Amino acid sequence: MTSPGKMVVISGPSGAGKSTVCKRILEDPRVQFSVSATTRAKRPGEVDGRDYYFLDKETFRKKVAAGEFLESASVHGNMYGTLRKPVEDAMAAGKHVLLEIDVQGALQLKDQDVPGLHIFIAPPSFEELRRRLVGRATDAPEVIERRLAKAEDEYRERVKYDHVVVNDDLERCVAEVRRLIGLDGPPTGAGGAA
Ligand code: ADP
Ligand code: 5GP
Repeated sequence: MTSPGKMVVISGPSGAGKSTVCKRILEDPRVQFSVSATTRAKRPGEVDGRDYYFLDKETFRKKVAAGEFLESASVHGNMYGTLRKPVEDAMAAGKHVLLEIDVQGALQLKDQDVPGLHIFIAPPSFEELRRRLVGRATDAPEVIERRLAKAEDEYRERVKYDHVVVNDDLERCVAEVRRLIGLDGPPTGAGGAA
């Protein structure tokens, strides 16, 4: 029998390195990315159904009302949410499902007691967080300032998570997250380590 997979929530301030860490974790075939829905515009190179389900505001609202989301939140002026069904289906098939979501969404999941492993990715310092946001070169200076101000509030919420992993050295951080999920060692059945 296939053992069910885990819901793994990776969250933390913008620029801490969530996407970078998640890309590495997703190299493991036992882990599946949870494709979120969003009302934000598609960026060049993004594919509907792979990066996000791109929905208009009305469709998103209807899905919220119909209870189709495990969590949803407004992030930087757009709506984002995790669809319940793909997460449940993947877990039933024995996959660990990786949710890369913002802190508000992660706390909603905690409040609902949806079982899962909640990992907060923390920057080594706020100075380094600023360097990363500037170095990433995706945001205007005022957007970076807004994200840094928000990061201070988000950082306070880290105590509500199961684990806080500091993303100082990327390799060390990835190894720690893999260990927490249970990806180290030999797979135990079709779904891997349970
Ligand atoms: P997030 O998804 O949390 O917003 P990103 O994964 O986009 O963050 O990372 C922000 C920037 O920091 C990127 O330019 C990324 O290459 C860089 N970065 C990520 N992890 C590290 C690390 N351990 N050391 C130095 N730079 C990093
Ligand atoms: P981006 O628009 O840059 O892809 O993502 C912006 C932010 O939205 C990131 O902090 C990301 O973690 C968060 N996010 C992505 N998907 C979801 C989701 O399904 N739910 C919540 N709450 N946040 C999400």
